[in-house]
Formats: sequence, C-alpha cells, structure tokens
Amino acid sequence: MPEPKLNGFYCERCGSLIDGEEPGYPRLCEDCEKENRPRKKQGKKAQRREQ
Ligand SMILES: [Zn+2]
Repeated sequence: MPEPKLNGFYCERCGSLIDGEEPGYPRLCEDCEKENRPRKKQGKKAQRREQ
C-alpha cells in the first residue's frame, strides 16, 4: 500500500503535513521547495570545485 509521502499528503523531504490534500504524487512543502529550487547562486557547492 502506498505511503502518505508518496501520495503527496506529507512533504517528501521533511515529512510535514502540507495542506491536507493528496495529489497522488510525491511533493515538497513550501519550505523544502524553496531549498530544492535550483538557483544559480554561488554557495557551498561552488567551493568544492577546487582540487
Ligand atoms: Zn518539507
């Protein structure tokens, strides 16, 4: 049987309740979606380029 997370009922990442709806696919809450959104900012990952 499918888990609530896989139905989009809970956030796929942090597991918190999103809005009580169940779209039927995994999704993220607003907070995690902000973090997950690909941005072209030079952050922590940019520093790993050096060898
Ligand atoms: Zn979340």
